[in-house]
Amino acid sequence: MRFNKVLFAFSSVWLSCSVMAANDFKQIEYTPPEIDYDVIGRLWDFVKTNTQAPLDLPPPKLVLDWHVPPFARMGFQYPTEKFPEYPMQISIAPRTIEQYSKEMVTWGVGHELVHYAFILRENRWQRGQATFQDQLKHHCNPEFKDLTRAIADEIWRIYHSDTQRAAMYDEVEKSCFNEPNQ
Ligand SMILES: [Zn+2]
Repeated sequence: MRFNKVLFAFSSVWLSCSVMAANDFKQIEYTPPEIDYDVIGRLWDFVKTNTQAPLDLPPPKLVLDWHVPPFARMGFQYPTEKFPEYPMQISIAPRTIEQYSKEMVTWGVGHELVHYAFILRENRWQRGQATFQDQLKHHCNPEFKDLTRAIADEIWRIYHSDTQRAAMYDEVEKSCFNEPNQ
């Protein structure tokens, strides 16, 4: 999903998440055990190849974020003209890691990576901009749906859970049905 035209991302430091404490004074670094960075790294290569991204395009920052709205599990943020202060990152609610399977968290990150690639492609792969254009809608876009289903297939090739893959396919349709403007 995207929050108010904001999406979530990964840092080039794949093995740690930067976590801002609620009071913003402390920054803690740690690696949640349920995040499989090897698989996410493979998905990132898959997304780059299938969106014709520059192969050296760095992934967005991936951040555990206690401020993800209660209705969301994770999201991709980026600065726009309207919200220039937004960071470019994928934010995951810590509760998501507690409540969902490793496969589903991984698929969710894959979904956000496709948002990131689509936004950057719309902006001619210019990462250094202060703000980004986002005229295109993603969730019902046939290419977006195909790619997020293909990510479910990639995850199936690793974990072989038919049930989990069916749940991911379901999420592809739900994203389009529930949030067609994102
Ligand atoms: Zn989405």
